[in-house]
Amino acid sequence: MSLPSEFINELTKRFTGDVRLDPASRILYSTDASIYQIKPTGVVIPKTQDDLHAAVELAAKYAIPILPRGAGTSLAGQAIGNSLILDCSRWLDDIIEIDPDSHTATVEPGVVLADLNAAAAKFGLTFGPDPASAERATMGGVIANNATGAHSILYGMSADHLLEADVVLSDGSLDRWGVISDQFSVNSDQLAAGSRRSAILSAVKDIRENYAEAIRRDYPKTWRNSAGYRLNYLLPFSQTRPSRWEGNYPNIHPSSLSLHPLLAGSEGTLAVIRRMKVNLVPKPKHTILGVLAYRSIAEACDDAPRLLEFGPSAIELIPRMILELARSIPAYARQMGWVVGDPSTGLRASPSALLVVEFSGDQPSALREAVRKIGDVLVVAESDEEQNRVWNIRKMGLGILDSSPRAARPVAFIEDCVVPVERLGEYVREVERIMAAHGTEGGIYAHASAGCLHIRPILDLRKGEGVRALRTISEQVFALVTRSGGAMSSEHGDGIARGEYIERTYGREATDAMRLLKRAADPHNILNPGKLFDAPPMDSHLRSGDGYQAKVWKSALYFDHERGLAGAIEQCNGQGVCRKMTGVMCPSFQATREEGLSTRGRANLLRELSKAGMENGELANSIFSTLDLCLACKGCTSECPSGVDMPRLKYEFMNQYYKTHRRRLRDYLFGYFHVAARWLSPIAPLANIFMTMNWSRRLIARVLGIAEERTLPLFAGKARVRGYTGRQVDRYAGRQVYRGEVIFLSDVFSHYIEPEVEEAAIQILRALGYEVKVISCVGAGASLLSKGFIEAARDHAEKVLGEIQALDGGAGLSVVGCEPPEVYCLKHEYRALLPGRRAEVEAIAKRTWLVEEFVLRAANLDEYIHQPNNTKGSITFQPHCHQRAEAPAADGLPSGTNATVEALRLCGYEVDVVDAGCCGMAGTFGFEAEHYDLSMQVGELKLFPLLKGLDSESAKTPSAFGASPKFDRNTAEFGGGWVGVVSTGAACRMQIRHGTGVEARHPLILVRDALSGTVP
Ligand SMILES: Cc1cc2nc3c(=O)[nH]c(=O)nc-3n(C[C@H](O)[C@H](O)[C@H](O)COP(=O)(O)OP(=O)(O)OC[C@H]3O[C@@H](n4cnc5c(N)ncnc54)[C@H](O)[C@@H]3O)c2cc1C
Ligand code: SF4
Ligand code: SF4
Repeated sequence: MSLPSEFINELTKRFTGDVRLDPASRILYSTDASIYQIKPTGVVIPKTQDDLHAAVELAAKYAIPILPRGAGTSLAGQAIGNSLILDCSRWLDDIIEIDPDSHTATVEPGVVLADLNAAAAKFGLTFGPDPASAERATMGGVIANNATGAHSILYGMSADHLLEADVVLSDGSLDRWGVISDQFSVNSDQLAAGSRRSAILSAVKDIRENYAEAIRRDYPKTWRNSAGYRLNYLLPFSQTRPSRWEGNYPNIHPSSLSLHPLLAGSEGTLAVIRRMKVNLVPKPKHTILGVLAYRSIAEACDDAPRLLEFGPSAIELIPRMILELARSIPAYARQMGWVVGDPSTGLRASPSALLVVEFSGDQPSALREAVRKIGDVLVVAESDEEQNRVWNIRKMGLGILDSSPRAARPVAFIEDCVVPVERLGEYVREVERIMAAHGTEGGIYAHASAGCLHIRPILDLRKGEGVRALRTISEQVFALVTRSGGAMSSEHGDGIARGEYIERTYGREATDAMRLLKRAADPHNILNPGKLFDAPPMDSHLRSGDGYQAKVWKSALYFDHERGLAGAIEQCNGQGVCRKMTGVMCPSFQATREEGLSTRGRANLLRELSKAGMENGELANSIFSTLDLCLACKGCTSECPSGVDMPRLKYEFMNQYYKTHRRRLRDYLFGYFHVAARWLSPIAPLANIFMTMNWSRRLIARVLGIAEERTLPLFAGKARVRGYTGRQVDRYAGRQVYRGEVIFLSDVFSHYIEPEVEEAAIQILRALGYEVKVISCVGAGASLLSKGFIEAARDHAEKVLGEIQALDGGAGLSVVGCEPPEVYCLKHEYRALLPGRRAEVEAIAKRTWLVEEFVLRAANLDEYIHQPNNTKGSITFQPHCHQRAEAPAADGLPSGTNATVEALRLCGYEVDVVDAGCCGMAGTFGFEAEHYDLSMQVGELKLFPLLKGLDSESAKTPSAFGASPKFDRNTAEFGGGWVGVVSTGAACRMQIRHGTGVEARHPLILVRDALSGTVP
């Protein structure tokens, strides 16, 4: 359906936000975190409350179906449709008020739950329901899905915490849904007006008077129910209650009538929420976790009722499948230390399932006592850090399950069933039997305390067999759940996956009551049509579906996915972790909050291209635009739970795109900067004058498209380290121990621009007793790859490998370097460049290190440190993003960021790793004129404010270490106390200087300076 031009014209006149009707925008909003895909008719992004109102009013006038949307993390397909999307997440994100006295918050629908919780935490409060997606889920979506989470036995559902909502009704009128009567009946004045509101009140009255019996009789026996509408809250009525809930349940006075709970779980089908007032609960003062190990998932579930007797605040199931997959994802593997059992017993060393049992309260001693009683606990997590590690693995369970590169994947459709907790073990055994009968298994995890397990059977939905299994498993599980007194949807909603089960769940009469409400609220069916009622079959509108064929080009890079490039593109399952505002992933989204600039947005467009083919020029151009703004920071490679590697996809796409498009001159300069630097370095004084004089600097910037605001890096002239005219051996200087030889990989910045870094690296290696052999090619080819010059990068890689072979002579020497992108390019990207030399590449990758990583493995660094026991001061450290993304090493010793931290720590420094993501420079990205603003926006997100605050902070705080509390920017001198900022990336150091005026140094210089005696 296309949108009428009159509607668009009128909307554009009244709207201050964005109206986007282009194909790329429609693709971006055609998926959520479900298995479905439906293209919307268009997307509007309201900037103000008036915009939102105008959009609904005009939609009512022209009978245009609309779909209010938040982060689009729904799992059942309710956030997509053939409707006009109203994206409330971008601008409508005001936390209007937090009232600590009444324990309430008033927020706009686009407020991210984690942000609300962070603001409420200042008053010791939090929003009770805690969906695992809180770091990106918006309050509009949380309420409209009736979301809840691990603590549902304590806090119930979102319906129990919504106090009032301002809404736009389907006719465009504004209304407030709250407690509208404290009498049992609706007052006749309220019915008289003939408005949409009066129609709704009339329906509500009718339901309460004529359908109460059906509701009491036919509603599922469980309180944890998100299917259909919350008509039971109108009575109010619930057969069961959350086991730790205090007071009446639902918490509605029996003689009052409350409209607002109807919005919970309504999936945008009753009204558009523009503002809401929610209840906040006191944050527990203390929590403790006890982890129990079990031989099977069913056995763990059997134990849940016993554990509930101890009064825990949560019991969560984590199966072995998730633990094993988590170990393979860098960001999670780092947090897995707690899953170390006692190897003396098989079960503890390798459990099939874990139950994480949480207790909360005011007295730590009482909590410890409670944990002690529950049984033979594998781990007790008491500190925040220990507990976060456990929760992070649990919360990422769903994504982690989907991380292996294969065509058959865990599919969400029976992932939200709930049964009475006493029947959970029996239920699991039955579902396992059903899955086995279909020749598959599934990931099973989550809320054991509430009888809700997220079960995702592994199916290949590109094949008829997989699609058929989707239907039959769903039917069989529905029958099982109904027999068990449960419900198909207990927090994730109905959407497309479960819409068709509503009538079968509730029976005809209660469903009629729901339809009555829907008709009254939305007689023209413009609010998210096809959801809850008249939903399409659950096996229709699949993203892939039987016969799905990707038309990808023959890739220049090797993708070690089951289906190569297509498999790598399809790895994204849309969970939207890349929409979070913490960590590294995804800086371009964090800075702009644009769906199209998230990793998911990029993957969605690429997936569409893989169906349409590169011949679709318009789509290819849209993808170019979004990939052009990908900083290739590698945040996604470590933080995306599905392991999407967008930088590699970017290199591949750019390589293909530029076969038919002209490159900018600048790309050659940046991609081949190692070559340009080799030519310019000998004439450094002349080149530097040219690069610093105003007119010539501007000329260079204009001709090449470089940001005029940037200072160009200057050449140092001669490399300080001796002998770079070819393959050279830097002779061991002869200290205490001769440790052997090491191969050094130089890079363009440390070699031609900041040679003191390279010099420090080599001096450290020599001081530790190494003979340093230097590879004559500069860099591993990272800059070529980053610009999509894949063939040139491959040639360069061949040369580097050739040199390594020659220098190594079969000895298996380690290869070390100081610039993270170059070192990690050799370590990780050569597999994609040279699949034919896989064994050799893998062997070299295993012994390729940053200098800091290497020295921690090669020698006892602390033995070489001058005055090892003296604290030399504290340091603020901004790691290069690629270093942050580095996985834990197989040998268990520090790698990536941790290696630099440890090396500095051994040298006597206290290291404060900046809690910020990407600096925004990302190699040459920030130099490019059209990227400058985004680059600075990324820096301003966290890094710049933090660094700008450092001077005054340290000036205010008397130094713990005496000497020199303040870093002198003019002299860039370090002293004791707070000694300054270090950063491992050359580009990061430039960006820090440009954005904050702070002179950051390379940590290796500090390490070198800390070595005792004269360094060679
Ligand atoms: C990895 C993962 C883990 C998850 N874990 C949980 C969990 O533990 N518990 C849980 O309950 N859910 C969970 N979810 C599901 C989902 O994240 C939550 O339900 C979340 O609250 C949805 O928020 P959203 O902003 O993404 O909403 P969206 O997906 O954008 O929208 C959800 C529904 O709300 C409607 N809506 C949005 N805004 C408005 C508005 N202003 N007015 C009216 N209707 C509106 C939409 O039309 C849609 O029907 C998980 C999802 C993922 C991918
Ligand atoms: S890119 Fe990763 S984090 Fe983002 S939606 Fe896709 S799978 Fe999730
Ligand atoms: S590489 Fe960085 S900018 Fe690009 S998609 Fe991944 S997280 Fe986002």
